[in-house]
Amino acid sequence: MASFRCSNCGRIKEFKELFAYELSTRPCTVCWKGKWIEYDGPMAEVVLGREDSEVADLVRRCEFLEAQIQATFRTKELQQKQYEAAGTRDQARVFESHIRLCNDTIVSFGKEIETLHAQIHEYGVREAIRRDAGVAFKAAQGVSGTSGKNKLYIGSRDFVSSYASGKRKKPRILDVPNWSWGLNLSWVEGGISARAQFKLKLDDRSPYSTIPAPVLQKLREAPGMQPETFLELCRTRGSGTLLWYDKDGENRPTWTALEIASLLRSGYQFRFLARSSSPKEEKIVLELPN
Ligand SMILES: [Zn+2]
Repeated sequence: MASFRCSNCGRIKEFKELFAYELSTRPCTVCWKGKWIEYDGPMAEVVLGREDSEVADLVRRCEFLEAQIQATFRTKELQQKQYEAAGTRDQARVFESHIRLCNDTIVSFGKEIETLHAQIHEYGVREAIRRDAGVAFKAAQGVSGTSGKNKLYIGSRDFVSSYASGKRKKPRILDVPNWSWGLNLSWVEGGISARAQFKLKLDDRSPYSTIPAPVLQKLREAPGMQPETFLELCRTRGSGTLLWYDKDGENRPTWTALEIASLLRSGYQFRFLARSSSPKEEKIVLELPN
């Protein structure tokens, strides 16, 4: 997904499967004056705004379904009255089938509402998300002051938070009570704004917490690859690892993969360095070239 910015009004938009040359001929659909130009600046605000509007859509759909259920209840009551007053068996059967239809409708709308509630829940309480996004941005931006190093940790959430439980390392991880991808991205962009180093914390004991060797080899060969190329690599070679989530009916990049893609988009590159504690071992970081 590529992002573009209007040359006139500054509106930022993401376009799926569209290339710059296709867009260059189209005007901005907000002000109708500017042109779309490629944009690689901060995106968290755009993502948070998209999350807000996705939640609003889900809430509207819920309200619509609730109104439909109420209306169906009223219809059902009417059909019940007519059923009781039916003069023949045939008439009664017609009303009976209408009542059944009403019941089915109520049940199926009810199920959809449950699903919607679960989806809304996943977006979190928006005010809290917005507040934490600001907190996370500042925490990442100021990490050198709070932890002594301009360095942040990314990787499997469980592993990273157990690794960085100490007072000195804790400021190097995303550590706020709420979560959404937009909030997570705010944290990453706070680090980018301070040109922080992002260190990949890998745990070889679990496939979900590490990157397979063949993928690491590709990253070594092309340390500054395009984010789209990286995500394609995650999809084709990273299934069931730290890079690609394919459980519970989902099939998507992991949040770590998206964090890395955001860093690559901002000009960060992979670097494979010797560990200062044990120089024979390797550590993997993402850094902005000097
Ligand atoms: Zn515009």
